[in-house]
Amino acid sequence: MQQHRRQWRRASSRVGHRYARLVDPSIVPERVEVSEGAEVVINWEDGTVSTYSASQLRAACQCAECREPFGQKKIEEVLAGPEPVTITATKLVGGYAVNFVFSPDGHSTGIFSFPALYALGHPPEEP
Ligand SMILES: [Zn+2]
Repeated sequence: MQQHRRQWRRASSRVGHRYARLVDPSIVPERVEVSEGAEVVINWEDGTVSTYSASQLRAACQCAECREPFGQKKIEEVLAGPEPVTITATKLVGGYAVNFVFSPDGHSTGIFSFPALYALGHPPEEP
């Protein structure tokens, strides 16, 4: 496992991590912490830390509903609404993803895979 990771690191530095880093399917969080519902902090096993706001995650939801124009409109309304977006529940899904429940709209169908969360927390660096 460690060996695999070292090999992958080498490969990713060859290709440039802009792409390679984001597609490593084996990376998993060591810890997922929700701070007062407003912020999620993930410690990744490669030692990096990602911080997400609840509204950032709500906006990034890729569930079937949120990919539809109706769902997109709903996201815009929730983000622009008077109540702050918060996370009211967090659940690990099958060792590959995290499910968040959002307030105020109660949205609960979003499954955020670890690679998707990792990519969201590690945007490509500017050249
Ligand atoms: Zn969704």
